[in-house]
Amino acid sequence: MKIGVLAYQGSFEEHALQTKRALDKLKIDGEVIAVKRVNDLDVDGVIIPGGESTTIGIVAQRMGLLEPLKEKIMEGLPVLGTCAGAIMLAKDVSDAKVGKKSQPLIGVMDISVIRNYYGRQRESFEANVDLRSIGGGIEKVVFIRAPAIVKVFGNAKSLSQFKDVHVMVQENNLLATTFHPELSGTTIVHEYFISMIKK
Ligand code: GLN
Repeated sequence: MKIGVLAYQGSFEEHALQTKRALDKLKIDGEVIAVKRVNDLDVDGVIIPGGESTTIGIVAQRMGLLEPLKEKIMEGLPVLGTCAGAIMLAKDVSDAKVGKKSQPLIGVMDISVIRNYYGRQRESFEANVDLRSIGGGIEKVVFIRAPAIVKVFGNAKSLSQFKDVHVMVQENNLLATTFHPELSGTTIVHEYFISMIKK
């Protein structure tokens, strides 16, 4: 199994490590590669990490990766988008402060996302979220200038909520979290993503 992590900016290393831990735990022979160019897209699954979604989108567009990646995802390539990665996947994106502003997106998932939802007061925080729907427990996870998924429509299904918003949503081959599963003690989100790839 070959899993690619988009590696322009953000938590590439942490995702790569967490993916390897999950593969080991599941006793699956796999490798993790950095995705920067179209040639790197020959993978069984792809992770779009957190960071700054505007930067990730602009760089992906410049590298000519955005459209090929979108096509592969629409053809069924499993993708895990975390934080900025969840923003990249969403069909509907606005910013808590400035509202709608165009930015390069993949834009394939039936979710409405508000960037920087928690504002300055709570830029980063830890919280216990319920990951029992994917075989985990109540897990402590970290939110960093996190977005919120405020609406789930079409074929998307909410897998976890925190307060009044969704923090983990799946739509077929697409998995989005607003928190950072790569910075967590549990590997359950990566394990679940690997199970999506195996299907
Ligand atoms: N605030 C970032 C954005 O809007 C996301 C933060 C993150 O990925 N940790 O793109």
